Parts: sequence; structure tokens; C-alpha cells
Amino acid sequence: MSYDILIVGAGTAGMSCAITAAQRGLKVGVIEKSDHVGGAMHWSGGHMSAGGTRLQKEKGIEDSVEKHLEDIYRINNKSGDLKLIEMAVREAPKTIEWLDELGMEWAPECPRIIYGHVAYETARTIYGPEKAMSIYKVLLPQWEEQVAMGRIECHFKNSFIGLSKSDNRFDTVICDVETGKCEYKGKNIVITSGGYGSNPAYFQQKHPNIPLVSSCYPTATADGHVILEKQGAQFKYGEFHLPSLGGMEEVEGSGRVDFNANWAMVLTSVYRQPRDIYVNAHGKRFIREDEVSPEARELATMQQPEWCFWVIFDEKALNSPDENGNHNPIMIGRTVEEMKAEAKRGKALRMADTIEGLADATGLPKDNLKQTIAEYNTMIDIKKDSNFGRSYLEDPIKTAPFYALKVHASVLVTFGGIKVNKDLQVLDTDEQPMPGIYAAGEVLGLGATSGSSFCSGMAITPALGFGRILGRTL
Ligand SMILES: Cc1cc2nc3c(=O)[nH]c(=O)nc-3n(C[C@H](O)[C@H](O)[C@H](O)COP(=O)(O)OP(=O)(O)OC[C@H]3O[C@@H](n4cnc5c(N)ncnc54)[C@H](O)[C@@H]3O)c2cc1C
Repeated sequence: MSYDILIVGAGTAGMSCAITAAQRGLKVGVIEKSDHVGGAMHWSGGHMSAGGTRLQKEKGIEDSVEKHLEDIYRINNKSGDLKLIEMAVREAPKTIEWLDELGMEWAPECPRIIYGHVAYETARTIYGPEKAMSIYKVLLPQWEEQVAMGRIECHFKNSFIGLSKSDNRFDTVICDVETGKCEYKGKNIVITSGGYGSNPAYFQQKHPNIPLVSSCYPTATADGHVILEKQGAQFKYGEFHLPSLGGMEEVEGSGRVDFNANWAMVLTSVYRQPRDIYVNAHGKRFIREDEVSPEARELATMQQPEWCFWVIFDEKALNSPDENGNHNPIMIGRTVEEMKAEAKRGKALRMADTIEGLADATGLPKDNLKQTIAEYNTMIDIKKDSNFGRSYLEDPIKTAPFYALKVHASVLVTFGGIKVNKDLQVLDTDEQPMPGIYAAGEVLGLGATSGSSFCSGMAITPALGFGRILGRTL
């Protein structure tokens, strides 16, 4: 089978590329290893960002592509692939406009400033009420229409395992299928196979000293990276790796967390004032819990053993509403009753009637934990944190039962990826384009489009935007 464009991966970038190319009359082949389209959109938060959108104008928010770009450079110290970042930011309002035209529903509170990452100065993050599924829901009918017209042919359960070329140009994708191997031809080949956070072996190879606790979509298994690198492609930006806080392992030691079900609100002082303390495996505090900067929290956690910590609180804190009247915001979306049930299960959340018992339940060193909590209670009395400068000093930890919640620095998106030029052509280790091969989406690495910091929306927005650019230009 031979196509004008052959796309590997029917996820975020792959769908937008396929739809855009097919609507321009091209014959598009898509190789997909799973049995469904949409990829990470099924799990993603779907926070997009763009400057100068209709929604911003309607709410009187002044913004532009230039301001968005400036803000990103302020946040990431002008790191990453600056050409790609500029391209992504320029394409972003057009992507939003496209989704708007397709009837995308936006959450009523958008655009807003998000504090889960270092905050933009302007409210420019927007998302749908069903997170990335809101995007998926407007893309799917477009996709289905092109499939019905015969312009997109998607080959499910075909796993991309190799590439070959003729006349010095890559033109063949080799796939593993149930019955053996299969080959597809494409005048241009676009790799949109996603990230590598669900491939522990590859992750360890790229980040030997980083513990992997992953919330990435299960198909983010580095297949595109491995095959492209085997053909000589360049891997970049792995050194920018930053985790996200804070995931809770459903099964201890599994290395997996569920972003949508098991996430802890450790963004204190932005969304709530802390009635808790954070201790590391030695039972010691390591940060002011009301630290505002998400990056400071992430970096501090990266200095702790296993990149994790315990959030320690008491019964009174569990039952106290936060400043917005929410009960209890420590585990996102859980009620007090649900948290108590979780504590009885005794996995991520542990409970005991005494501090000694809590040390036994968690394995934290008893003397250290007792001393840390005693010091904290004294801090509350004297209203001063001489160690870390915490300023919210209201609630002592002394009402039994006591709780400890284990929180991991987790991987939502992988930062390293395959280097491309401004035409999104894959580059080899000598910086030369590999003829016939293009890439878009998380396979490029978040480090390329967001640099050394998390900039809100700079994964999914470029995935959609670059997919569209390739759909147009190829
Ligand atoms: C929980 C979570 C929350 C997130 N929240 C946000 C957010 O709010 N904002 C933001 O900007 N980003 C966010 N992201 C990241 C963002 O959603 C992803 O980076 C982006 O959607 C990835 O798009 P993609 O097209 O590169 O990959 P995907 O959408 O993952 O698509 C890749 C496709 O390739 C297929 N594939 C893989 N290997 C093969 C193979 N060998 N052969 C054939 N097919 C293959 C997969 O099955 C999949 O369908 C989040 C991610 C997660 C996991």
C-alpha cells in the first residue's frame, strides 16, 4: 500500500496531521499499534495555551503571540529549540481557532492562569470541560469523515518496527502485525508515535539516575525514538527532565500512577494554605510547604531519596475546609470519607493513632519523625520557621489519628526527543536531514517546545499545531 503521507501513530499529532492532509486531497495512510485513535488525548489534561485568542478578547485579556513568546522565555530562560518554540507559539492561536471552528467547547473559567507550572503572567491557558477528550471529540468526526471518503486509511494493530529507503530516501515503514510483517510505502513519512514514559528500560537508558514513576499513556513506549535512533537520528533535551508533583502509586513499587485518579494537591499556598508538612525518607522537612513556585518544589523533591516525600497531617487538618471551603483538597477530588477509606486500605495513604504508629506504618525513622513534628508544633507556637521560612503557621499536628500520604515526583511527559529542523525534518547526529522523514508531537520531547521548564500547554498545543503544519506543507 502506498500513500502521499504515511503517519506512524494516530494520536494527538497524528490525527491532526492526517485530517489536515486528507482535507487537502492527499491520500493518507496511518499506522497505529493499538486498536483505537486518540493516543494520550484519552488521559491528558488538555491544557492548551495561545496568545490573542477569541476567548481572551471576549474577556478583555490583552495578549499576543509576542507576549506569549516573551513569557515562555522568561519562564525557561530561553532554553529549548527556539525555532520550534516560536513556530509552536505562532501556530497556537490558529490551532485554537481551528478547534473553535470545529465546535470545541471550552471550560467556562478559561482562559486562566495555571499555577501547576511556573505561571504565565497572562491568562492564556484554555481547555475543554472534559480535558483533552474535548479536543478528541471534535477531531473524531473530522477523522471519520475522511476515513469514510477513503482519504485516510488507518491500519490498527500494526506496530511500527522499522524503516527502509530506496534511492537514498526513506519511503517504507515496516510493521509487526498478527500474521507477521507488513510494509507500507509513503512519499513522506511522519513519525507521531508519542513519548517514552511508559518504557522503563529506555527511560533508564536516557536518565540513568532518575526513578521512573509514570503517568504516561501506556503506548508511550519509545518505539519511534528507538527506530529513528537506529537509523542515525539525534536525541536531544533529555537533560531538561522535570517531574510533576505529586502522583500516588496505586500499587506500591509499580512505578505507575494515575493522573486522573491519584494525584495530590501539593500546590499549597496557591490553591490552599498548608496544614501539613512534607518529610523525606529520613523523616525530615526539606522545603517550606507554602512555597509558591512549582519548579522550586519539583527541584527540591529531585534532591530527596527516590524523588518522593510523605505529606503528614492530622485529623483536624483532614476535616478543615480550605480557604475556598473545599473538604479535603490534599487528594484531588476525594472527600474526607473517601480519604479515610483510602487510609484504611493503607497503601498510598497511611493512618495511625500515634506518631510512633505512623512511623511504623510508613517505615519513617521514629525519632526523626517525632522530632520533626515536635519542631513544627513549636514553630506554630512561636510563629517562625527558622529552617525554611514557611509563612503559613496556623495549624499544629496534634489531633489523632495522624496521616501520611506518599507522593512521587512523576512523569507525565518526557523531555528528551528526536531533533528536527524548522521543517520538522528529522536530523541525524551530524545535523543533516534524514530524507523523507518528519516528526511531530511528544516524540520531539517537551524539552524542544518548552525548554527546561514546564510552560503550560506547550506539549499538546505544539502536537496539534505541528501535526497541522505537516498536513499543510507536505
Ligand atoms: C496524564 C497526562 C496529562 C497531560 N496534560 C497535559 C496538559 O494539560 N497540557 C499539555 O500541553 N500536555 C499535557 N500532556 C502531554 C500531552 O497530552 C502529550 O504530550 C501529547 O498529547 C502527545 O501527543 P502525541 O501525538 O505526540 O502522542 P500520542 O497522543 O500519545 O499518540 C501517539 C500514538 O502513536 C501510537 N504508537 C506508538 N508507538 C507506535 C508504534 N510502534 N506503531 C504504531 N503506532 C504507535 C500510539 O498508540 C498513539 O496512538 C499530558 C499527558 C498526560 C499523560
